[in-house]
Amino acid sequence: MVAGMSSVRVRFAPSPTGMLHVGGARTALFNWLFARHHSGTFILRVEDTDQQRNTPEANEAIFSGLTWLGLDWDEGPNRGGSHGPYRQSERTGIYERYLAKLQDSGATYSDESGAIRFRCPNSPRRIADLICGDTHFEQRSEPDMTVRRADGSFIFHFVNVVDDIEMGVTHVIRGEDHLSNTPRHLDLYEAFRVEPPRFAHIPLILNENGSKMSKRDEGASVAEYRAAGYHPTGVLNYLALLGWSPKEDREIFPLEELVTRFSLEGITRGNAKFSLEKCGWISGQYFHGMDPEPLREVLLPFLATAGLETPADQLPDALLLELRTKIRTLSDAVPLLLPLLVDVFPVEAAAAAKLASQGDPSPLLRALATSFAEESSWQPAGLEAAIGRAAERLGLKKGALMFPCRVALTGQSGGFGLTLVLERLGRERSLERLGRFP
Ligand code: GLU
Repeated sequence: MVAGMSSVRVRFAPSPTGMLHVGGARTALFNWLFARHHSGTFILRVEDTDQQRNTPEANEAIFSGLTWLGLDWDEGPNRGGSHGPYRQSERTGIYERYLAKLQDSGATYSDESGAIRFRCPNSPRRIADLICGDTHFEQRSEPDMTVRRADGSFIFHFVNVVDDIEMGVTHVIRGEDHLSNTPRHLDLYEAFRVEPPRFAHIPLILNENGSKMSKRDEGASVAEYRAAGYHPTGVLNYLALLGWSPKEDREIFPLEELVTRFSLEGITRGNAKFSLEKCGWISGQYFHGMDPEPLREVLLPFLATAGLETPADQLPDALLLELRTKIRTLSDAVPLLLPLLVDVFPVEAAAAAKLASQGDPSPLLRALATSFAEESSWQPAGLEAAIGRAAERLGLKKGALMFPCRVALTGQSGGFGLTLVLERLGRERSLERLGRFP
């Protein structure tokens, strides 16, 4: 079925007041998965009524973050739909209309400051939350809620409920921090005589030490993942597992499978613990399975941003097939590729120290250079044989030459297979590096 074929309508309703937080991205993802699973409609609604706190940058962070993750919306800004506009700042006429309804029913009054307040019925409320279960709010003693401030602006609870009614939202899936707001929202539904949607409040995200994850924590902002070159689908896969369990001991779930298997019942009641380490590991798994062509496509602009403008033929398939096994993020690729792409590269301090502890490497490197110089074809088999010959002449094991050779050629103790490095560098640069080291 295609989007919009069922009656399910859900929305992600961020306030553009800062970055797109991983908690927000996870809320968006759960809504998106729910919509896709039920062939419903996923709406993006920008809750930008707070003029003081909204910024264009925050607005942009929402769009670019969701787009980077691949969470496409069926209705929303830049997309349209039959229930627009999708920015609250453009919906004042609708709010006025709803306010008039409340005023006509006598549910509101103007207070001494000129604000319009809603008479809170304070009746006990029961929420049959699809995640938190039955939640009771007894003996409420909330003050009458301001719905429109004296300056004419509307408050969050009011516009949030009006929009959910007007947009035909069937399921409100949002962070647990909004659970305590829900009784007030139910008061408004009752006053409007509208059947409320189903509610599903997602538990919070905690740091590994159990503290509440905040904006300042590492890994809090979706933009950080993009800048560091995480695999976007890997990040989605990780976020899906952050609080949702497929009840199977497995970590990697392709997006289509998540769509098929996702259910609100699978969301765990307890708070989820965030692990950047696990997110990186999953991102790595996605890179490990990536074909050379799409990897090249994402890598080239990433390298360019890192100051390594690289022609596509410098990243042949053989190199990418090895590279993909070694990275968790595109950032990891930069130091690995650096010595293959440019002639000035750092030598790892630990590698240099280890080499120095083994005595003067010059005779070894000279012997290697001599053997390599005898190779006319510069093919893997011949290069292997050349290392063997150099070892024989020195009366050493072949393994004893690999490390000095690698450090001289790349400055690194790990990295790509040595023959791949030699092939990529070619005869001239390889011999030059062996000759000039250290
Ligand atoms: N704008 C609210 C927020 O950012 C949305 C609340 C809701 O999803 O109902 O938390």
